[in-house]
Amino acid sequence: MPETDLIDVTDTATSLRPEANDRPTRVRVDLDALSHNFHALQAHAGVPVMGIVKANAYGHGLVPVALHLQAQGIGQLGVALVEEGLALRRAGVTVPILVLGGIHAPQVGQFLACDLEVTVSSIAKLRQVEEAAAALGRNAVIHLKVDTGMERIGVHSDNAGAFIEAAVASRWCTVKGIYSHLACADDPASPMTVEQRERFLHACAHFDRLGAPMPIRHLANSGGVLHFPDTWLDMVRPGIALYGVMPDPASRPTVALKPALSLVSKVVYFKVVKAGRTVSYGATWTAVADTRVITVPIGYGDGYPRSLSSRGEVLVRGTRQPIIGRVCMDQFMVDLGPGGTAYNEDEVVLIGRQGSDAISCEAVAQAAGTIPYEILTGLNARIPREYIGAASGGQPLA
Ligand SMILES: *Cc1c(COP(=O)(O)O)cnc(C)c1O
Repeated sequence: MPETDLIDVTDTATSLRPEANDRPTRVRVDLDALSHNFHALQAHAGVPVMGIVKANAYGHGLVPVALHLQAQGIGQLGVALVEEGLALRRAGVTVPILVLGGIHAPQVGQFLACDLEVTVSSIAKLRQVEEAAAALGRNAVIHLKVDTGMERIGVHSDNAGAFIEAAVASRWCTVKGIYSHLACADDPASPMTVEQRERFLHACAHFDRLGAPMPIRHLANSGGVLHFPDTWLDMVRPGIALYGVMPDPASRPTVALKPALSLVSKVVYFKVVKAGRTVSYGATWTAVADTRVITVPIGYGDGYPRSLSSRGEVLVRGTRQPIIGRVCMDQFMVDLGPGGTAYNEDEVVLIGRQGSDAISCEAVAQAAGTIPYEILTGLNARIPREYIGAASGGQPLA
């Protein structure tokens, strides 16, 4: 039954695609930038990269991004949910996939049926995985999750001894990895990361104590890869950096990355707004003089934040122009000024480059009062994705 629900959701999204592809508003993903970032991060860390593609590959499109990284030779992918892993398997992704989220007992069968690697975050969960694996007569590949400071999921590092011992002794589980998650690695000045690394290595030492082979130790998210070489260990797990975006304003660009995503639209309306007239819901913006205003067909119903009302900017005809009044569900307005010009179908760039100027995802996040992660993952399925770069053959893939 849950399986059927899943397929229905997927089919609905698919059936919307042909029309959605004609929409002038689109997310454009540069696959060459993605390859560049993957290879640059792997070269920088000197260990294999687990490419994190959860939340629709941070808005870039789960399946096309995963297939592209697979073609680029990536050895491991990570997702948050078992459903994301299933979608990848259905689409023909064959590389190992770790599901990072906590597991629910009834889902373990799905993990095993689709060869998804399981995050085991307690002894009780280990037992659930063992039971399901024994019942199916199939071995489970697991990664042990140790909590070193997030207080999210995982066995506290102080108590990891018994947990690791039970996992090593398990008849039906193969311990492929052990990992933890960093809370403050986005900020190179935070002392928390050093402490978390120490706790993590202390937990890992139980394998030596037990005389068991050390599994793959992975700790570094994007912040770790960028700022803390000590956290690279045996594998790194960058998400946002893979897409060429910095995790935090405090982050340092220690690797030359290229933003892979642009968000573009086209002018759908042009008019003169007379002095004294107001624009959009709530009449929060008033024209002080006659001015020229365009309407752009994208809104918060697409995931473009309403908090950018009278705060955001776009690029049109090579210049930066302000969003005026409230962002609506499907549209917003931009002031070109009394002497401004634009024509229907002119390109409008919301994130990305136009001419010699660019609006970064980081800048949009700052203006919206949030983080780039929320901007990227918020861009929803109503916006068609278009893939460019050598690997795409110039064809939209989704
Ligand atoms: C999301 C996530 C990552 C990637 O984080 P970024 O900050 O995007 O690099 C890595 N590991 C785990 C466990 C995660 O949940």
